[in-house]
Amino acid sequence: MIVRARYLVTRAGDVVENAELRVDAAGRITAVGRRTRYPSGGPEVIDFGDAAILPGLVNAHVHLELSGMRGRVPAGADFTQWLRALLAARANETPASLEAASDAGVREAVRAGTTTLGDISTSGCSARSLARAHVRALAFEEAIGLATDAAEAGRALLESRIGAVPSKTGLLAWGVSPHAPYSVSRELFRTAAAVAAARRLPLAVHVSETREEVEFVKTGRGPFRELLEDLGAPVDRFVPPRCTPVRYLHELGVLGPSTLLVHANYLDDDDVTLVRAAGSAVVFCPRSHRFFGHRDHPFARLRRAGVTVALGTDSLASNDSLDVLAEMRAVAALPNAPSPSEIVAMATSAGARALGLGDRAGVIEVGREADLTAIALPADTRQRDVEEAITHAAARVVATVVQGRLLFEERN
Ligand SMILES: [Zn+2]
Repeated sequence: MIVRARYLVTRAGDVVENAELRVDAAGRITAVGRRTRYPSGGPEVIDFGDAAILPGLVNAHVHLELSGMRGRVPAGADFTQWLRALLAARANETPASLEAASDAGVREAVRAGTTTLGDISTSGCSARSLARAHVRALAFEEAIGLATDAAEAGRALLESRIGAVPSKTGLLAWGVSPHAPYSVSRELFRTAAAVAAARRLPLAVHVSETREEVEFVKTGRGPFRELLEDLGAPVDRFVPPRCTPVRYLHELGVLGPSTLLVHANYLDDDDVTLVRAAGSAVVFCPRSHRFFGHRDHPFARLRRAGVTVALGTDSLASNDSLDVLAEMRAVAALPNAPSPSEIVAMATSAGARALGLGDRAGVIEVGREADLTAIALPADTRQRDVEEAITHAAARVVATVVQGRLLFEERN
């Protein structure tokens, strides 16, 4: 197969005009270069016309099983109010409805140009949706619980779920996600980290998402304490570590080079130093961030320190679409927006690195599998403006290719 478009962005900052790439039957890129002529009867040619072909977009944080929650969970006065409303809505779901929601979420993500997803699943159902959809994915299985027996139960659950869905394509990889400092006991954090280390799997942890979380970890008090008491969690036995959530993870041995920190909205300078020293990555969810009314995200400070910052949508319980291009636009609209090229990197190569897939996804080059997103651009777009045009309202995804297979193509 030969794939063409007016522009090819082989990696952030590298835009080629009138280029094409060749993909073999196994889905691997065999050539990237200037457009050539083929006699009739040659390989199949797909030409996306006035479009840019990018390395496939990476959504580094999503909860696919919550894809039925769009518009159903109000932000509330603080995060714990939202969490209460989410738990109430979730109580009505069944394994079948969560899996159907997961399937719908993957379809939406693929139509929005996503080729790689970092998904966290509480129910364990979304790995099946991911495998069916032929997308590249990290399926993070969640561990949650503050009870004394949570650690052993968590280990058993993780061991039963990890690897339970076969992946003949090699597109599905596994990870472990101890949920958050307010919902996971010290023992469960250590157990989850040990399960991940023994199998060389990445970790994903929600951390420093809210001021209330920081307060709870520092003092054991605040809205999280009230929420946990109402849920019947043994919060009396929770001894607050009396430090920041990031330092707490560091002391538990959870920060490391294959740890993905989700949100990390409220960081002090010491936290940034710890994250940098550990080599952990951060995923910023711009529109979910706005939904909750958080203060400015520290992505610029993190990037200056050399930390990989990826983009995610979070779930449809705090966002209105699973659309990475919309997240890129939201970043471009911020007062401290990075350059268009840096935004493209956040949604491609940084996302791949954050998920431990830096050697497989995030750039277009010979020898790699073809994960591609084609984005239609106005016909008068100049080569030097391509990356900026991608974040303009007129740009739209017209095709999604994973491992050389066309999963979505806009039909006129
Ligand atoms: Zn999340």
